[in-house]
Amino acid sequence: MEQYSIAIDGPAGSGKSSVSKQIAKILNIVYIDTGAMYRTVGLHCLRNHINLSNTEEVEKALQNIDMEIALSEGKQTIYLNGEDVTETIRTQQAGKAASDVAVIYAVREKLVQIQRELSKGHSVIMDGRDIGTNVLPHATIKIYLNASVEERTNRRCHELMLLGKEYNKKQIEYEIIQRDENDKNRKYNPLKKAEDAIEIDSSHMNIEQTVQTILNIIKQKINV
Ligand code: C5P
Repeated sequence: MEQYSIAIDGPAGSGKSSVSKQIAKILNIVYIDTGAMYRTVGLHCLRNHINLSNTEEVEKALQNIDMEIALSEGKQTIYLNGEDVTETIRTQQAGKAASDVAVIYAVREKLVQIQRELSKGHSVIMDGRDIGTNVLPHATIKIYLNASVEERTNRRCHELMLLGKEYNKKQIEYEIIQRDENDKNRKYNPLKKAEDAIEIDSSHMNIEQTVQTILNIIKQKINV
């Protein structure tokens, strides 16, 4: 089988990463989580009290970031200046900071270069916001995974409940709408469905059903 690439784009909470990890394991290919890279830049800026809306400050901070990524089937480990931050970046604050720094051209330029390098030499499944439109425009298969705001809010609340954390549903819904706005309306490489992407609405599907739907699409196109 020749090398192939699968691009999965969509809004926060649509299930991209859970689904991509499982597909990577099933197909025995590498999973690349690009959101983690924006989160890592966001985390570095938060820790160093950088004003996220000040492009120059963020650009300067970017020069002090050494990002290392270790890949394996279904798992990605990310290092920020030598520290494993894979778990540390999974907070709501790091997600919001990621979305703020993601509007800056220099940030995207640096991260897209890393993402393209990482995709070389093996079959990959990569998830993010601009994979099908920008990072891998010639991806073998492009999926746009969507879900309603209501369903994405419920999923996030459920996750927080399982973690034993307190939450306010209205606040979570507001944050999801804000993040969508930010990601869809930015100037450089906004979140949008690539013309040749297949859209899947996962609102009424669980992870297994979504994985199966995407696997069927992959199998129709390539011999895996
Ligand atoms: O997917 P995740 O929630 O980890 O992404 C965090 C943020 O990083 C997104 O809201 C988006 O602003 C940014 N991002 C991006 N381009 C990507 C992946 C993530 O702009 N390819």
